[in-house]
Amino acid sequence: MNRSPLIGERRTKQRKAIIAYLRYAMKPLTAEEVFDGLCREFDNLSLSTVYRNLKKLQRSGFISAVKRQFENSTRYTLSDSSHVHHFVCRHCMKTIPLNFCPLEAIKEKVDEDAFKIEGHSFELYGSCVDCINL
Ligand SMILES: [Zn+2]
Ligand SMILES: [Zn+2]
Repeated sequence: MNRSPLIGERRTKQRKAIIAYLRYAMKPLTAEEVFDGLCREFDNLSLSTVYRNLKKLQRSGFISAVKRQFENSTRYTLSDSSHVHHFVCRHCMKTIPLNFCPLEAIKEKVDEDAFKIEGHSFELYGSCVDCINL
């Protein structure tokens, strides 16, 4: 393992850039989308580096993974107070931000002595008004 300060600094920079990019995107992104958005900024960035960073950020609670079953993808979104949940249209893939987070309501229903919540993911999907009548 190379633990030189330079490499550590580069990793921190990449992680900060990933967080900034997810915040800027305002919707859950796949690892490929994060990579596409950042590969010009970091010439040594690879898709597997992005994956590793996303996993690490997920483990430390900075981001949450959203599994989107109908497109068989995993997307990542911030878990801090700036996070936004979405409705996503299965047909045109339009995403509409929701103005609520269901976590507080759910917290009242779960026994928090049995486990500690460190993150959550929530997404609604279906047909948007433009696609309902197609
Ligand atoms: Zn639609
Ligand atoms: Zn939430």
